[in-house]
Parts: sequence; structure tokens; C-alpha cells
Amino acid sequence: MPALNELIDSFPEKERDSILSLFERYHFTESQKLEIAKDEADLRQWKEPSFISIADYDSIDSRKDGRKGDAYLREFRAYMDKLRKEETDYSSFSPEIHPRLKYRTELIDKDIVLGRCPCPVDGEKTRCCKLTTMDPIEQCAFSCSYCSVQAFYSEKEIHAVKDIEKKLDKLQIGSDVWHIGTGQASDSILFGDDYGTLTALSHFAEKHSDVVIELKSKSGRNVFKNMKYPRNMVFTWSLNAPTIIEKEEHLTASLDKRIENARRARDNGNLVGFHIHPMVYFKGWEDEYREVVRKIEANFSPEDICMISIGTLTFTKSVLKKLRMNGEESKVLEIDLTPAAGKFSYPLETKRKMFSLVYNSFSKDFKENIFFYLCMEDPSLWLPVLGREYQCDKDFEMDMKTHYFSKIKQMV
Ligand code: SF4
Repeated sequence: MPALNELIDSFPEKERDSILSLFERYHFTESQKLEIAKDEADLRQWKEPSFISIADYDSIDSRKDGRKGDAYLREFRAYMDKLRKEETDYSSFSPEIHPRLKYRTELIDKDIVLGRCPCPVDGEKTRCCKLTTMDPIEQCAFSCSYCSVQAFYSEKEIHAVKDIEKKLDKLQIGSDVWHIGTGQASDSILFGDDYGTLTALSHFAEKHSDVVIELKSKSGRNVFKNMKYPRNMVFTWSLNAPTIIEKEEHLTASLDKRIENARRARDNGNLVGFHIHPMVYFKGWEDEYREVVRKIEANFSPEDICMISIGTLTFTKSVLKKLRMNGEESKVLEIDLTPAAGKFSYPLETKRKMFSLVYNSFSKDFKENIFFYLCMEDPSLWLPVLGREYQCDKDFEMDMKTHYFSKIKQMV
């Protein structure tokens, strides 16, 4: 079983030996061995004790029916289930930060092509805004533990498109393209204008005034000094609870620094937006996410804000595998992983609880005058959380478009 061997090989020697001894001690099927190895990899990342070191072997070995492996597995599953279902406890968790700082940036000569948001096609299982994507930079120097970008590109190299101005100049866009995001393959402002990206995007936005260019960031880098951007460039920040920023979004700016940078964008004459995403179900989540909302309301008025989206942790199978193999200390997989539209996420009820808390923490003025949406979520969550829903993705997309352009027009 290559997946099992690969995973076991990724363990430090001591843990590898103890898992192999367990497999000699009790009889397990190959799929049970894989389950045990995956869960042991998770425990190591969560800095929780290995179940192999704490199992009650006297009780398991006292069984007379010869099904000791089953007894072990039953107790192991109960142990894992408890950890996954409870709110994640970060109080004594201090992860060692993976030094992904040692990246190298290469200018690469490739054309800019437009892509689409990674929601399943047609949005039967998720309600999707059909964002068009553009990747002038590929890979990121931040180190968020849940990041899917890290799973796609080489860990050591960041690619910036060479002669971006010329590439954007010759880019043909279809009449159905109205909303392009640059934050899917990297952080949109992390490198500022070092490779001419922001200047080129500004010229592109000026030329295509019927297109909204959305930049998405967790950076505190000031890209507003001596730079002016057209009104159809919208600067958005992903915001999270301070505990999650500190323990899972390594090397990124603090919540206050992100808000401060968003204020600079607003003061510089651009609309801003916020992605309260990915929400994590941890001990203290209610108070910390309420505080995020309070900070938004204390620093901005509804006229400043184009959109606010809410979303949570979602993993594809390949990202799950990558996270388990890299062994970085993180608790993002300490969740009740539930199948969700071909990926894995929290159960719907947990999402409903988290998203509702955030939405209901906003004042009436903000709720009525800002476009709120759920990002890549099950359509059944919209009505209970936001009090509205769409029958199809197209309706969602068109409503978003109307709101965005009406906000842009209102700007003086
Ligand atoms: S900022 Fe975005 S792209 Fe960069 S590591 Fe974090 S999640 Fe990944």
C-alpha cells in the first residue's frame, strides 16, 4: 500500500518504530493501518500525545475473543472523535513556525491566462460567485498552515510574471468577465509593486472600467504611499480571530495591522472588502469573532465597504495528504472532517452556528448596506444564516455585480 508506506516514512524514526511495533502486536487490515497512520500523523501535528503511548493495553490484551486489534481501534476512534468534535483548544498550543522564509523569487516569461474559482462546476453543491482568477504571482511567502496554494507550487520558489504590463496589454477578455481576483495563487499585495504588478493592474483596470479587479491580502505592506488606483480596484483583506492569526497564519500581519492597511486603502480612495475566512471552531471563537466585527464597524462605514464574505476551513484530499506528510505543527485538521462537495470541512450545523454569529454581530446599517455572502458554501446555509438565498449561481453572480457597481458609482 504505497500511501501507507509513504505516510509512515514521513514519521520521525521513534514514532515510525512504535507504529510498526503496534502493527506487529495486533492484527489490522491494510485500510485500518492507513486510518491509524493518518490519525497518528494528525496527533503529532496537533501536539497531542500519540494514542500508542497512552492506550490501555491491559484492558485490550485481557480480551479472550482474539479481536484485540478491533478493541484497540474502537478506543482509538473514541479518543480521536472526542478531540475532533470539541472546540479546538489553542490555549497551550505553541507551534514551531515552519521557516518558509527561505524562498527564492524568479521572474518567469509566461502569458497571463484567466481561470475560474475552484468551486465545483455548476455550483450544484456550493453556491459560487463565478469569480474569474488571474495569477500574476504564483506561490506565497506567508505560511498559513491550511494553505492550499502551498500544495500546488514548489515550496522554495515564487514566480512573478515577467513584463506583466505587456502581458496584460495583450490579454483578451470575454464579455462575460466582470470580476477578476488576483488572490488565489498568492497574496495580492505581499510583493507590492516590486515586479510592476500593481502598476500594470492599475493600467489594466483603467482600460477595463467595466471589470472589478479584486485584490486579496493578509499583508500590512503599505502599497498606498504615492500610488493611486482606479476606483474599480477593490482591496480586500482576509480577517480572522487573533488566536488563529497567531497560531495558524504564520508571518502574516496582525488583525490590527490588516485593518490599518485597509484604512489606508480607503483613505487613498478605494473601496475595501473583508473575507472573514477561514473561520475556525475553537475555544473562545465567539468572543474573538465578535471582536473582529467590532473592529470593522469601529474603523469603517458601510459606504467604504464593497463586500464581506464569510467562510471556513475546506480541504481537498490532496491538501489533506500534503498537510499530513509535511508534519508541520498545526491544529487545522483537529476538526470534525465531514465530506462537503468533494472536499472536507466542518458539519453543516457547526458552520451555521459560526456564520450566524458573525453575521448577527453586524449592525442593521452594515447588514443593509453591504453585500454579504457565503464563500464556496452549501446553498442550504444561505437562508438560515443570511436570510436570503439564490436559486442558481448566475443569480448570485448578477446580484453581486449589481451591488459592486452601485458601490463604485456612489464613490465621489
Ligand atoms: S496568505 Fe494566502 S496564499 Fe499566502 S500562505 Fe496564507 S493562505 Fe496561502
